[in-house]
Amino acid sequence: MKTSGLSSEQAAQKLKEYGFNEIKDTSKSSWVKILLRQVKSNFIIYLLFFSFLISIYIGKDTTAYTILGVIFMVTIVGFIQEYKAEEAINNLKKMIMPYSIVIRNSKKMEIPSKEIVPGDILVLGNGEKIPADCLILESVDLRVNESSITGESLDIDKIPHLNKKNNPEDHNKIFMGTFIVNGRCVAQVQHTGMNTAFGKIANLISTAEKKLPLQDKVNQIAKYMVFIAITMSIVTGALMLYRAETLNTDTYFDILILVVALAVSAFPEGFPVVLITTLAVGAKRMSEKNALVNRMSIIETLGEVTLICTDKTGTLTRGEMSVKYIVNAKELLEIEGSGFIAHGRILSSGKVINPEKDFGIIKIIEAGIVCNDSEIERTGIDNEYKIIGNPTEGSLLVLGAKVNMFKDSYPYERISEIPFNSSRKMLSVKVDDAEKTVYSKGAPEILLPLCSHFQKGDKVLKLTESQRKKLYAIQNKLANKSYRTLALTYKPTNDSSSKIDEKDLIFLGIMALEDSPREEVPEAIKIAQKSGIRVAMITGDNKETAISIARQVGILGNSITGAEMDRLSDEELVIATKETNIFARVNPEHKLRLIKIFKLQKEIVAMTGDGVNDAPALKEAHVGIAMGKNGTDVSRSASDLILKDDNFATIVDAIGEGRTIFNNIRKFVTLQLSLNFAELSIIFIGVLLAPIFGWYIPILVSIQILFLNLVTDNMSSITLGINPSSKDILNQKPKHNKQILNKTLLGLILQTAGVMTFLTLVSYHVSLYTFKNTESESRTIALITLIFLELVAAFYYRSFRKFTLNRSIFVNKYLVYASFFSIISTILIIYTPLNQILETAPISLISWTIPLFAAIIILITLDIFKYFNLKNPKYLNSIR
Ligand code: ATP
Repeated sequence: MKTSGLSSEQAAQKLKEYGFNEIKDTSKSSWVKILLRQVKSNFIIYLLFFSFLISIYIGKDTTAYTILGVIFMVTIVGFIQEYKAEEAINNLKKMIMPYSIVIRNSKKMEIPSKEIVPGDILVLGNGEKIPADCLILESVDLRVNESSITGESLDIDKIPHLNKKNNPEDHNKIFMGTFIVNGRCVAQVQHTGMNTAFGKIANLISTAEKKLPLQDKVNQIAKYMVFIAITMSIVTGALMLYRAETLNTDTYFDILILVVALAVSAFPEGFPVVLITTLAVGAKRMSEKNALVNRMSIIETLGEVTLICTDKTGTLTRGEMSVKYIVNAKELLEIEGSGFIAHGRILSSGKVINPEKDFGIIKIIEAGIVCNDSEIERTGIDNEYKIIGNPTEGSLLVLGAKVNMFKDSYPYERISEIPFNSSRKMLSVKVDDAEKTVYSKGAPEILLPLCSHFQKGDKVLKLTESQRKKLYAIQNKLANKSYRTLALTYKPTNDSSSKIDEKDLIFLGIMALEDSPREEVPEAIKIAQKSGIRVAMITGDNKETAISIARQVGILGNSITGAEMDRLSDEELVIATKETNIFARVNPEHKLRLIKIFKLQKEIVAMTGDGVNDAPALKEAHVGIAMGKNGTDVSRSASDLILKDDNFATIVDAIGEGRTIFNNIRKFVTLQLSLNFAELSIIFIGVLLAPIFGWYIPILVSIQILFLNLVTDNMSSITLGINPSSKDILNQKPKHNKQILNKTLLGLILQTAGVMTFLTLVSYHVSLYTFKNTESESRTIALITLIFLELVAAFYYRSFRKFTLNRSIFVNKYLVYASFFSIISTILIIYTPLNQILETAPISLISWTIPLFAAIIILITLDIFKYFNLKNPKYLNSIR
């Protein structure tokens, strides 16, 4: 394309004029919406508001205003949490920053897509998301999927707008938000941002998350709890009415408010918000480990994965390829150097050679440069290059740079091309040189059968069957040593038509590319296997290379190729794949078939993919994983998780985080329910036993219950939601279809709530009769005791397996802060004028020994219970 594009100055000017190429996110909740949400469907607020109205009606102003204060607090606390969670989720979305290639100042460059301006010339390739509305100037086999804006799932052919006399039609244009699913093009930007067709309908397209299965599970539990809370509160109220000595408006009122307070405190209103916070913090933690969650709903399934199907190139290996050997009909050439540094000599039998003197060598390097869709750019450090495009092709350009051969040295226009895709496994181009040459490169097994001749020095000779066999043997030898192999061919056609006949090609040689395994991968695979997760390699590369890399990283089992799979029925494949973990020379269609086969084997499959054609497999897998660096936009949009660093080890980390998040949800739910049950039963049993022990009822008054609910319960639950990941989280076997609660955990909740009820009531009794404290002092002591017990319970629930006593309190530092906050708030409501509102009384120093003693007892008791629980296999099974 001979166009210089915009100059930097013009681009800057247009950016000022048109603004960033961005779509305003209309699905984002405004702060007003979030605030309203706290009130709108919040039963608690209605309940409290009802009590507020009654208090006003009967003239209990202090109570009324206190309740109003509580309403305010509930709303604000909910608002802050939800706002922060939403912001965290939005920030995560922003981390997937798209880039595009534009031509500016006559040079191709990569810029953030949001800096694209009208007039820019874009160079777009297969798999890319179109970043703005454009007019096509030039295209090769261009097919676009516009389902994101039209809903039409069929791919559409597009052609350049050549006849300038006519107005461009839709098939001459490409639109923002749609995807290139075949071919490539050069296009001129017409509209950006909200001026695009996509921008105009953006508010019709909701990008909001669907309801999560986890949300349903948590809401289900909340519903049961609401039922229990209301029933128990009403029964308690009825019992109090029955016991009341005098019945007047005041008694009715006090009982009614208590019933409301009890219902409110046992109402798990914090669940949805704590859940979002847990998920948001968890997703952020995952992003810090390079795993971006595309769909929140996947977090739960992630923890249950039993099989990871991973690509090889760039995921298990570093993807920093370099050509190590060239084999041609004459000799084996060794190339010095590694990575993308263009420094290294070419050796033949240990002797440095001058490639310029050998037509065969020059031609194969030239073929690698011309039959190439990628670019290299100097990084500014010595001879280091940056690849724009794919690393396989980049390595061929770096090889060229080593001998001073660059794309600029071959400024031929491309007449036509047949693009590479992972099914064809080869790329052919026809260029406008003197002989209208066709150059092809691709997998040797694919290209060798298409060759009839070979190049030896400056001679072209007939390729015999025995020579072909010899070449296969050489390629196998290289592949066995883990090298990725590429064959290169050419054919002068002297025909300037666009037809490319991939036949009778002249074989130039095979290049062996080194792509060593990432250092961290063997360890990550070991961890996965130890935790019961099977790891399979599914690669487009050849079998020998695949096996060799698999063995280096610790993937065991048999191997099979796509062609071998084709010969088996589904039933046979189910059996054949049981012990097979290496799948080579597969097409995207094979991947899709494999997922279905694995599903028949009851595996929960996480599958990686990077190409356009991988999208169906990514969608079919339980967890679809795309590559952040070298993947296509199509694969990213079809995936659930994106690896920022394309690294296999990140998948294993993400699975660990997924498990942690689920465990944390379980922990905060169990804690919250234990506290709710304890509060309900303290008041209920208090009323029940009062006549026997001469207690004043209620044990805690309504405003104290509300304080507990707001300060201690909520805060400690949130901190459990963000409990750090335990180191041995991946030591456990995966388990499918986990419920948040099960019978054993319900038992645990009742156990904890029982101990808390017992100790609070005993403390109250001791205060009243042993310490001879007054009614309100004893009530204050019961309150402090319960707060202490709740804090200990929170520390206890940090782990279902580990003891509280022999673990540092700083394992979860947020819980330590929350505890401090609770204790300081408690002191404030006792020793400041706030005690008027909260109906507490300052207690003597010695009286503090009661709650302290109770806290120590519960600490020890719960650990003893845990000791026995851990001996029970049923308990062990239900906490994992
Ligand atoms: P993985 O699926 O593990 O990422 P892969 O990258 O080797 O492996 P493909 O991209 O499908 O899988 O490549 C398959 C084969 O096609 C390669 O082994 C190579 O021989 C050939 N090949 C790869 N990239 C190109 C390319 N840009 N041009 C021509 N041939 C290529």
